[in-house]
Formats: sequence, structure tokens, C-alpha cells
Amino acid sequence: MEFIPFTRPTIDEATIAAVSDVLRSGWLTSGPKVQAFEAQLSAMMDGRTVRSLNSGTAALEIALDLIGIQAGDEIITTPLSWVATANVIVLAGAKPVFVDIDPVTRNIDLAQISAAITPRTRAIIAVDLAGLPVDRDALYALAQQHQLRVIEDAAQSFGASWNGRAIGSFGDLVCFSFHANKNLTTGEGGCLVLPDPALAPLCEKLRLQGVVRAADGTMEVDVAGGKFNLTDIAAVIGLGQLPHLTEFTESRRALARHYFEKFDRALGCELPVADLANSNWHMFQVVLPLDNMSISRGEFIARMKAQGIAIGVHYPPIHLFQLYRGLGYQAGQFPHAEHVGAGIVTLPLFPTMTTADVDRVCASISTVLTEVLS
Ligand SMILES: *Cc1c(COP(=O)(O)O)cnc(C)c1O
Repeated sequence: MEFIPFTRPTIDEATIAAVSDVLRSGWLTSGPKVQAFEAQLSAMMDGRTVRSLNSGTAALEIALDLIGIQAGDEIITTPLSWVATANVIVLAGAKPVFVDIDPVTRNIDLAQISAAITPRTRAIIAVDLAGLPVDRDALYALAQQHQLRVIEDAAQSFGASWNGRAIGSFGDLVCFSFHANKNLTTGEGGCLVLPDPALAPLCEKLRLQGVVRAADGTMEVDVAGGKFNLTDIAAVIGLGQLPHLTEFTESRRALARHYFEKFDRALGCELPVADLANSNWHMFQVVLPLDNMSISRGEFIARMKAQGIAIGVHYPPIHLFQLYRGLGYQAGQFPHAEHVGAGIVTLPLFPTMTTADVDRVCASISTVLTEVLS
């Protein structure tokens, strides 16, 4: 029986050949492939200015820099995300202010944000968990009402949309990740979509040591930039992925639909929102009925592995990590994030998976859970 991973990148032979060509070309770092990749990303984002970076985290770090975040500023975000979302706030010297999630969407509960706003609040980092977009109409209405900037942590929602508009093609600063497990990958990589092309020079400076080169070849540095540029090796992988993005997303959506058809609801798991229009189905996650189970989540994962199926955990709530407890957060503060974080599991979902694989995953979950449910 073949092992089913929880995700797997889809790289075609043409992309592998294109990577070889770059390796033979003598130009490995940022060059013509990066420029071509950025141009295609921009076209996808309705012509908005896009700058490629070597990670999604870099995009978040630069976004915070671009809006001038300083020590003492507060940034509102979700406790249920990859820890990068909050780490970049700490790295910028600002304070992460968590707001609990909506237990249905598992994204930040927009209705609870107002109560967390103080005179020091500068921005909201909204995360589209599993590729399900945060309600953009409500998000931007709220931001406008309170004069806050928005950083969209769209690391998981590349290829997703909001009412027919591609995520990234509108809004404030939008950050994408092209990590190996994301819907579109460059191995490692990311990009930042800018709300104003005039920000591009500063973004480029922050991306590469603060260096500005004049036409005569001389250089000047007036800000300590980082080292966040993408290589041409990575960019050419992205160029090979982009033509398949629609097909990747459609395949994921069809598999998600199949999960909804085949998943046994009588087991008592909490299913994701059945959004078959906006979400890019980066992940299909269910929350286990831990209260009625005689085994832990870890034991459930081990039993699924014994059946040849990999199960992921995305994510433990950020505020319960040592670093964040040290900032004053504690268990009990965000009950929905804690409940979902404790029981959530990521089921296999990737474009080359088959509906028969989905059937097998659903059958194995039924077998494992039926034995341990009280
Ligand atoms: C992957 C991810 C990031 C970070 O992206 P990297 O490319 O790994 O740096 C940030 N936020 C979320 C929600 C992610 O899933």
C-alpha cells in the first residue's frame, strides 16, 4: 500500500529542465528569471507592483518596515497561524496583540478586533488559514474605520480569491510564500504585493542591504537593508509552476469537494467551511472530537501513519509558546484558538492526489476513530 503524504509539490519535467538551464547559464542569483517571475506575478495581481523575496517571512518583515513600525507599536493578529506571523512583529520591536479566532472559519474573529484596538495599534496582520480568505470587505471596512494599515499574510492563499478577485490583486500590503509546501512553490521563496508602485525602491533597498546603485555604477547606502532576494534558480521554478496554478487549485478544490462527500460526519469531527469558490484549499483540516476520544491526537496520528497516511498539525496556538507566554500571554485567553489548535489535524491534500486516495483517508479515519470513540 502506497504511503500518502499530507502534501507533495508538483514539478514537471520542463521545470526541471529550466532549472538545469539556469545552472548552466552562469547566472544563479537574482537576474532575468527573477524579473520575468515578478512580471508574471504582477500580471496575475491586476498589474500591481510585486517584488519577489527569498521567503514569505521576508515579505512580512519588509511589509512591517514599509509601514514604519517602531518599538512600542501594537499589531493585531491571530494566535492560530504559523509562528512566523507573530515572530516578525516581535522582530520589529512591536507588540503582537492576539485576537481570538472565529471557530467556524478558524481565521481571526473580525468582530473582536475593535475591542483590542488602543491608541498604539498600527496595523492588522490577517492570515488566510488553510487558504480560506478572511472577509476582505469587513477587514478593510474595519481598517478604514480605525485608520489601520493591513498586512495580508496570504502565505497560504496564493491562487485564492475574494468574490471573484484574486487575493493580492487588491488591498494594502499582501505577502505570499512559495515555501515547498505552499500551493505554488519555488523551493523557498515569497513575494510582496505593494499598494503603491512608489514603494518599490524602498522595498528593493530593504531586500538587499539598503544598496542603491546610480546609473554611473556608484552605490550608496542610507538604510540597513536585509538579504532577502530570490535566486534565478528559485524564480525559474516559480515560472514553471505559474502556468499550472489554475489546474492545481481546481484539483485541490475537487479533492476538497470529495472530502465533504465522503467524510463520515457521524464521527463528530469539526469540518472546515465548505467554501468551494474563494478558498484555494491549501489544506483540508478537521478538528478531532478529543473530548470523546480515548486516545490523544498524537496517538491518532501514529495510528494513521500505521495505515500509510501522513497527518499534519497546523498549528499549535502561538500565544502558548514559551516566547509568547514570556510576553504575558497564557492559556485560557483565546478559547477558540486553543480548542481548534488542540484538536486540529491536516489531512492529505495535494494536486496529484486522487479521489481514491481521499476515499482511503476517509476510510482510515473512520476505522481509527470508531475504535476509540466513547
Ligand atoms: C508559510 C507561512 C509563512 C512564512 O512563509 P515562509 O516562506 O516559510 O517564510 C507565514 N505565514 C503563514 C501563515 C505561512 O503559512
